[in-house]
Amino acid sequence: MVTPRADIGVIGGSGFYSLLDDATEVEITTPYGPPSDVVTVGRIGSRSVAFVPRHGRDHRFPPHRIPYRANLWALRSLGVRQVLAPSAVGSLRPEIGPGALVVPDQIVDRTSGRVQTYYDAGGVVHVAFADPYCPSGRAAAVSTARSADWEVTDGGTLVVIEGPRFSSRAESRWFSGNGWSIVGMTGFPESILARELALCYTSVSLVTDHDAGVEAGEGVTHDEVLAFFATNVGRMRSLIGDVVAALPEERTCPCQNALDGLKLPFDLPG
Ligand SMILES: [Zn+2]
Repeated sequence: MVTPRADIGVIGGSGFYSLLDDATEVEITTPYGPPSDVVTVGRIGSRSVAFVPRHGRDHRFPPHRIPYRANLWALRSLGVRQVLAPSAVGSLRPEIGPGALVVPDQIVDRTSGRVQTYYDAGGVVHVAFADPYCPSGRAAAVSTARSADWEVTDGGTLVVIEGPRFSSRAESRWFSGNGWSIVGMTGFPESILARELALCYTSVSLVTDHDAGVEAGEGVTHDEVLAFFATNVGRMRSLIGDVVAALPEERTCPCQNALDGLKLPFDLPG
């Protein structure tokens, strides 16, 4: 059987399958081991889409154990060049409440111990990361969310913590005092690995709660996050489907040139 190809990748929560027409499951191996789960390739309208459930279908991978390198490599090897990354985040700003969407334009890495590069042997490759997100993907996500009457913040800084624990109040106050907007556990190294493969990467972050140091927040519990996410998951899914349709067919953004002039130790897949 011929392996199906896809243009757009979605890395997100399980349940996205229901949006895909003519879905086929593809088992992929990569030099970095298997991705989080089988990849489902299908269509949304005229666009071909590959979907990876970030935590695995049975949610077996906590944020710090997700096979990030395998996931991005698998998508690129199927032909994917644009990646949408929906996720749940905590808000660090009183004015951004539960249910709001943020499409960040900056990131701060507070993870530790995660492998965050493909280029750890065979030569030195320094990839620019000043603007971590795809401008075209961000624009498509913001305008699609606005047309769906979703409260969306265009821009802002996502701070990614190691987890799986939530932040202490002091950490949370420190993050918000720095002007950062939202806090999550999966946005890094996903974003840099996408950049290292010259992929477009767009984060679409759904706020589920206020973080511990914000307002009189009592801190987050796992149950609260899950309950909130369950009530919004269907809406989020259809939004991502609409963003897929709004992504440009031809890439004109700088993401595709991320590796220009660099000497790579291996050929990129796909
Ligand atoms: Zn791009």
